[in-house]
Amino acid sequence: MAREIGTRCIHLEEEELNHYGAISFPIYQTATFAHPGVGQSTGYDYSRVQNPTREQLEKVAASLENGIDALALSSGMAAIALMMELFSPGDHLIVDADLYGGSVRLFEQVSKKNGIDFTSIDCCCEDIEGQIRENTKAIYIETPTNPMMHVTDIAKTAETAKRHGLFLIVDNTFLSPYFQNPLELGADLVIHSGTKFLGGHNDALAGFLVTNREELSERLRFLYKTTGAVLSPFDSWLILRGIKTLGVRMERAQENAMAVAEWLKGQKMVTDVIYPGLPEHPGYELMKRQARGFGAMLTFRLASKEAALAVLGKVRLIQYAESLGGVETLITYPTTQTHADVPKEVREKNGITESTLRMSVGIEDVKDLLEELERVFEDIEKEMKY
Ligand SMILES: *Cc1c(COP(=O)(O)O)cnc(C)c1O
Repeated sequence: MAREIGTRCIHLEEEELNHYGAISFPIYQTATFAHPGVGQSTGYDYSRVQNPTREQLEKVAASLENGIDALALSSGMAAIALMMELFSPGDHLIVDADLYGGSVRLFEQVSKKNGIDFTSIDCCCEDIEGQIRENTKAIYIETPTNPMMHVTDIAKTAETAKRHGLFLIVDNTFLSPYFQNPLELGADLVIHSGTKFLGGHNDALAGFLVTNREELSERLRFLYKTTGAVLSPFDSWLILRGIKTLGVRMERAQENAMAVAEWLKGQKMVTDVIYPGLPEHPGYELMKRQARGFGAMLTFRLASKEAALAVLGKVRLIQYAESLGGVETLITYPTTQTHADVPKEVREKNGITESTLRMSVGIEDVKDLLEELERVFEDIEKEMKY
């Protein structure tokens, strides 16, 4: 019987007592390894190919996503860029219209130049099958999406992909493996920005590619050692340490997010609260079926751009910063931060208006978070006479 996921964050099934019994896995800060003799290897030759600390992290990540292999890279974008190496000029991908801004930038400004073609649609709600061409190779989704929180049916999309011999690739950063396991629902490849919930402390960048397909694992391992954006031993250790508390962090952050979403709903200055944990969210029922939680990311719109900017200027405990998934609550302005490189028309079409804010709710005491929001909103209401 496989252990529960909260335990797998802390212990590998096949844990052995070695490294002098060290409870915290050692950092093998070495670039290369000596060979015991000609034609012999300790199992490690050179750290670009493999390093014991990184390997330990990869085993944990594979276990959390129920994959056969996980590759740890130097950032989430390095993982997505490596994934793109699976494709060749002339290939076509169907991608979610609402995606992490960096992914859009990579697809639009790098992959296209390399001859790869994309169709962007709302995979949650538009007809994917109708967009499949002879040269289509993959469907690439986020669920929930960043930042509009659209929820796509992973199992149904996987069926469509299988029928047409396409890969289904899911960026699972927003929910983390603690709340959602796309491979179990039929996806071929899962991506994580380990910088976010997996690391959890806003102190290291990392990325993961996880698969349960032998053939994909082999191709990716070859591309990985060849292109070299591997995670360093020290950063591997930081992410390993972060993952140990993934379960408790996700539970607490989600509880806080629910409280913040409910609070925001009661504000006259707030026009929309987009959080999949609210029963009125169109993805609520689907999330209950395919995930074990709703996560800690929420998006909301204010009555005006001025009010949105005022919130960013007045927060103190909550910090105005890019990124998400850490113990600290952060608030982001997608228009000029995460989605600045997405063309304005596309941004607005997707619903990212100039009064839209995204919040990554952390694990602070919720009382302090709500007090902070009350102070900020009262100030703005007074100044702007809402
Ligand atoms: C942050 C993020 C990425 C990119 O990861 P980095 O670690 O910043 O390179 C990709 N996808 C999503 C959903 C993200 O939030």
